[in-house]
Amino acid sequence: MDHRSKELFERAQQLIPGGVNSPVRACLGVDSDPLFVAHAKGSHLTTVDGETFVDYVQSWGPMLLGHAHPVVASAIHSAVDRGTSYGAPCEDEVILAEAVIDALPAVDMVRMVNSGTEATMSALRLARGVTGRNKVVKFVGCYHGHADAFLASAGSGVATLSIPGTPGVPEATVRDTLLAPYNDLTAVAELFTLHGKDIAAIIVEPVAGNMGLVLPVDGFLQGLRDLCTEHGALLIFDEVITGFRVNYGGAQKRFGITPDLTTLGKIIGGGLPVGAYGGRADLMRRIAPCGEVYQAGTLSGNPLAMAAGIATLTELKKSDYDALEARVAALAAELQTILAAKGVPVRVNTIASMFTVFFTDQPVTDFASAKTANAALYTSYYKQMRDKGIYLAPSPFEAAMVSFAHTDADLAALLDAARAITLSA
Ligand code: PLP
Repeated sequence: MDHRSKELFERAQQLIPGGVNSPVRACLGVDSDPLFVAHAKGSHLTTVDGETFVDYVQSWGPMLLGHAHPVVASAIHSAVDRGTSYGAPCEDEVILAEAVIDALPAVDMVRMVNSGTEATMSALRLARGVTGRNKVVKFVGCYHGHADAFLASAGSGVATLSIPGTPGVPEATVRDTLLAPYNDLTAVAELFTLHGKDIAAIIVEPVAGNMGLVLPVDGFLQGLRDLCTEHGALLIFDEVITGFRVNYGGAQKRFGITPDLTTLGKIIGGGLPVGAYGGRADLMRRIAPCGEVYQAGTLSGNPLAMAAGIATLTELKKSDYDALEARVAALAAELQTILAAKGVPVRVNTIASMFTVFFTDQPVTDFASAKTANAALYTSYYKQMRDKGIYLAPSPFEAAMVSFAHTDADLAALLDAARAITLSA
């Protein structure tokens, strides 16, 4: 059935580590082989074997308008003919910067980079540069890209020295990464009691999307803001997922919290490789060439990516986020009912256009509770849903993404598939 996908995967494994250019795509966590995509449109993607799926991954978030949106595609097409990289400023960089600054309350100035990883890495360098401190507080189970400082072991205890989460990251690098459980303000306060004078920043996903979807409890984000203010540390909101998704103004607007720095990616590039970091003007002016904190990029502000980003944000600004959220909330509630009726423990977390199915009987509020979910049940769910034409994230620790292109029929297809599968605890 997946004949050509299998053939390509075999070839790829000889040429590319694991056959993939980003690890989760290998589908190892769900005991499956990856599907190779031939093309995608709106809410659907079609494999090289001609099979079509309703796509609930949406490139891990960027495609909030759906794949190959006509306005975005046409902006990219016309940008191509004007040249693909100049290594010099262009007007679209200014227009996209204006759109981002206009949307996000805590962003006065912004610097474009090429990925979310670059954005968080650069924001941390800036935080360290302006505070003259080295330590950073990060939450267990949050993902901020693959820069060394953020790959501290998720299992390490609060306020203990971190150990590298991967060979190749020097222990000295992650020694400055302090870990706390998500939603645990007491743990963060303890870190500040112990290390307050050395902490440059807290970095947080204001809604966590990388341990599955986990919402901030009431007061958590405000508590982080207060601790940073009290101790002279910077608050970095990593809005690589939430920016332009939890609403047009990101989590900072939705929750009314003002971070000092914000990192962005995914949606602002409309499917092209883009990241950005921004924040208070006095901080951003410390970046080279107006300041001393160095950061650069040959392809940064790439004209194709800028054109895609502008078209995407222009369309999103006109989109009805509330209506999409209501549809996804109803979907998540019905999915929970359908799966629970099979006698398996299940909790579905949802906000805006994202949801995660956790096969557990506990509320999921941090990585420890996320890990109580039954991985074998997720694998069974994933495989059977895929057999029925529903393309889900090949990992229990990811959020399903719904786009504005998803029709009611697409949502019904997911629910019908869920009704038809067999799960047993
Ligand atoms: N920050 C968050 C919250 C993310 O979800 C991701 C990627 O999934 C990143 C940073 C890293 O972005 P990228 O994969 O573009 O480097």
